[in-house]
Amino acid sequence: MPFSALGLCPELVHAIGALGFSVPTQIQAEAIPPALNGADLLATAQTGSGKTAAYALPLLQRLPAAAPDRRRPVRALVLVPTRELAVQVGELLAELAAALPQQPRVAVVYGGVSINPQMMGLRGGAEVVVATPGRLLDLIEHNALRLSAVETLVLDEADRLLDLGFAEELKRVLALLPARRQNLFFSATFPPEVEALAQGLLHEPVRIAI
Ligand code: AMP
Repeated sequence: MPFSALGLCPELVHAIGALGFSVPTQIQAEAIPPALNGADLLATAQTGSGKTAAYALPLLQRLPAAAPDRRRPVRALVLVPTRELAVQVGELLAELAAALPQQPRVAVVYGGVSINPQMMGLRGGAEVVVATPGRLLDLIEHNALRLSAVETLVLDEADRLLDLGFAEELKRVLALLPARRQNLFFSATFPPEVEALAQGLLHEPVRIAI
């Protein structure tokens, strides 16, 4: 089955082809159609499964199609456990976003480095933010961004987010999000604390196990 059969717009089909992906992986084939429809997802997915594109493509397609709001509020938030994953996810999102007519901006923020360049980078706003939870909260405290217009939340590697001790930060971030939103939840494993997080977060999710 080609990417075009999943409901993706021609620009994104072209962009994903330009990255050398011609056939969707199993998780992409199963996740993209319901995610495009606005459903919540609960996906069991390992690194290497193609999970990043499985949420990146629908998230971008669902951004408002009109010319961007001048303030460019955050519409989609992707939470990840590590800097390495943040960079990797940000690169894919930025390459795909460049193919869209409205040219959404993608910002990547993570801890362990100076906050100032990240604050500068957020000045003009960004529709898509990829973040580790602690640095995201720091940036919010510095008024560098707001989460009140978020429509889509992605938790990538949710089990590692909790392993790395982000539970408290995660709770604080979730409290800042609008209640009405789409949630895309990806985890390699489902120990009880991850199950509990998913339970509290998701509304009638489509379950995908690869
Ligand atoms: P991920 O699980 O998202 O980290 O992706 C694992 C690797 O698979 C990455 O190097 C991607 O570039 C690659 N990849 C993802 N989707 C596809 C696809 N449909 N066809 C070929 N390669 C892919």
